[in-house]
Amino acid sequence: MNLARHLNHPVFHMIASVAEQEEIQVYVIGGFVRDLLLGGSDTTAKDIDIVVIGSGIAMAEKVRSSIDEDVPLTVFKNFGTAMLKWGDTAVEFVGARKESYRKDSRKPLVENGTLEDDQNRRDFTINALAISLNPDSFGELLDPFGGLEHLDEKLITTPLDPGNTFSDDPLRMLRGIRFATRLGFRIESGTLEAIGQYRERIRIVSQERITDELNKIMLTAQPDKGLLLLEETGLLEIIFPELFQMKGVEEVEGEFHKDNFLHTLKVLDNIAQKTDDLWLRWAALLHDIAKPRTKKFEPGTGWTFHGHEFLGAKMIPGIFRRLKLPLNEKMKYVQKLVQLHLRPIVLSQEIVTDSAVRRLIFDAGDDLEDLMTLCEADITSKNEKRVKRYMRNFQIVREKIVEIEEKDSIRNFQPPISGDDIQYVFGIPPSKPVGIIKDAIKDAILDGEIPNEFEAAYQKMLKEGSAMGLPVRHELRRGDH
Ligand code: ATP
Ligand code: MG
Repeated sequence: MNLARHLNHPVFHMIASVAEQEEIQVYVIGGFVRDLLLGGSDTTAKDIDIVVIGSGIAMAEKVRSSIDEDVPLTVFKNFGTAMLKWGDTAVEFVGARKESYRKDSRKPLVENGTLEDDQNRRDFTINALAISLNPDSFGELLDPFGGLEHLDEKLITTPLDPGNTFSDDPLRMLRGIRFATRLGFRIESGTLEAIGQYRERIRIVSQERITDELNKIMLTAQPDKGLLLLEETGLLEIIFPELFQMKGVEEVEGEFHKDNFLHTLKVLDNIAQKTDDLWLRWAALLHDIAKPRTKKFEPGTGWTFHGHEFLGAKMIPGIFRRLKLPLNEKMKYVQKLVQLHLRPIVLSQEIVTDSAVRRLIFDAGDDLEDLMTLCEADITSKNEKRVKRYMRNFQIVREKIVEIEEKDSIRNFQPPISGDDIQYVFGIPPSKPVGIIKDAIKDAILDGEIPNEFEAAYQKMLKEGSAMGLPVRHELRRGDH
């Protein structure tokens, strides 16, 4: 098969002419070739991996100097690689290598090798495909392991013995699951079995690399497929025990609860159809994470998970720290959604009062739409009628939110009287009474007892202060504070 007409990026011809001059063999290999054969076009910005039979760095330097434009080149001496950044495209050059592995590390001993050696060290047959950039065979596909056929069959399988492949570099297990998830491929049975067999080896992989793969899985169109594969292979238990513990059903007095792991995957699948936001997807994955720890069978009531939203929110920092996910506002966002994830549901089951909606708007702030998206994804009942009813109720909640937002401005609202104001008026230092009065004003506004305005809040403050026996020391007028 000749693919020359698909190698449109100018860099291919640059490389080919340098290769001809220098009489060095060069190939494009890996993800670029795979995606090209899957029907992508090489005109979109994409990473290109070039393997050189010789020095990758020397080749990269010669290619750079043959380009008129100013294209930056980064050399990684320790890795023997060099990266050319041409517009949106990153072209990575590496010398063909032969690798051998030690037991305790995923970093191999490396020596120079042939193209064949280099293809042997690739993780999957579909990633070992190469295209020649040499003058006598420009565009020829080199496919020693049947990668083309496997693309056709939608199959993930390793070039060499799968056990050795995964034992050598266990990160490949996660990469395999990631590719299967992203491409909608099946993992060949021997390969899948080997992942299960060598799952413990994942412990030699750094947490950063593991989490990087997890995030990539989370960003695919069907992340639930990847998580199910992680569970089936036994990897989930090792890398994400809290999720693993959600699996299974228990029975007492003939009553079962649902399998919270499978429910979570359904919620994740639902939300992935609504949003590409990684953190909203994480919130879906973690929304019920505390269910195993709060689970109780209460005779007469059945299975309960009281407070799982609060305990769940509390568990998030520990999980984020271990997974080396960011401990910043992204984490706080996930925590907030986990903590609030039952609120709209409760609302939709009752007669929706203005004050309950006001409180929800106040607590969720700018994340209210995301919270509603999460809650709608959380409806996974098989009973069509029930789903319809919930959805209708959510619609009522949404309408109510719009109506109340128009009437009162609750979102991100700052109470019209601040803590400083209260201290000034009563001449008191920062103290408990200040907090009590402040909360009383906030509650009165959220409950609709007083409007969200200075004068009403001022009167409320005076009333609360006098009930606490606090004399007024200073007057305060609107705009003074
Ligand atoms: P993506 O679209 O995610 O970039 P990719 O196949 O290009 O997919 P990269 O991580 O960019 O993946 O790696 C480029 C190529 O290097 C792969 O196609 C594969 O041939 C090889 N490779 C990468 N990581 C490994 C690994 N851990 N073991 C073996 N080969 C690997
Ligand atoms: Mg790549």
